[in-house]
Amino acid sequence: MNKFYAYTDKALKYLRRFYVREFNRTKMQIRSDELNVIQSTTNLYDRMRRETIRVYLLIAKNKYHELTGHDDTITEMWLLGFLGTSNPLTGYIFLNDIDRKRQYFTESVMSGENLDKAAKKALRYWYGSAKQFADLVTDEAALQAFTDEKVRLVQWMTAADERVCWTCNSRDGNIYPLEKVPGKPHYNCRCYLKEVK
Ligand SMILES: [Zn+2]
Repeated sequence: MNKFYAYTDKALKYLRRFYVREFNRTKMQIRSDELNVIQSTTNLYDRMRRETIRVYLLIAKNKYHELTGHDDTITEMWLLGFLGTSNPLTGYIFLNDIDRKRQYFTESVMSGENLDKAAKKALRYWYGSAKQFADLVTDEAALQAFTDEKVRLVQWMTAADERVCWTCNSRDGNIYPLEKVPGKPHYNCRCYLKEVK
């Protein structure tokens, strides 16, 4: 099992439970008409955004600390900088996409789609992105650590578990200068970088 993402996986398990709970709570609110749909979904996505950012910060600090022995560099500002920048793998800005996801869910509910179905779809859409960005935050924290520790060379390690990245096989073991490391070639790629000493 690839341990590079072990903490990330633990955090994702927690986040997934949190999201499921929040969607259930929102469904109840919408059904009982406590708040209108827009108010309910706005609150839902606000809570999910805040909790996701809080947990991403833990993920980044954990990875950075593992590689440097401290985590001073990893602040909320550092994280928001990363999440507020267009990502080359996903092609979108995480923070900007939150409202698009909310609107998509709100519209399907308001257009009369079955609430359970709409919520399930919205959760899948949300979690897919949250999971991908949890990996990307982990990678970015590692890159920041390598940069700060003045690491010169890193080695591409292909995820050697049940989720082997077949498309990444040709990169396995390749050594790159830190400033020339290629980005991840596909979604859910769990290859990682290791310092060459
Ligand atoms: Zn890969």
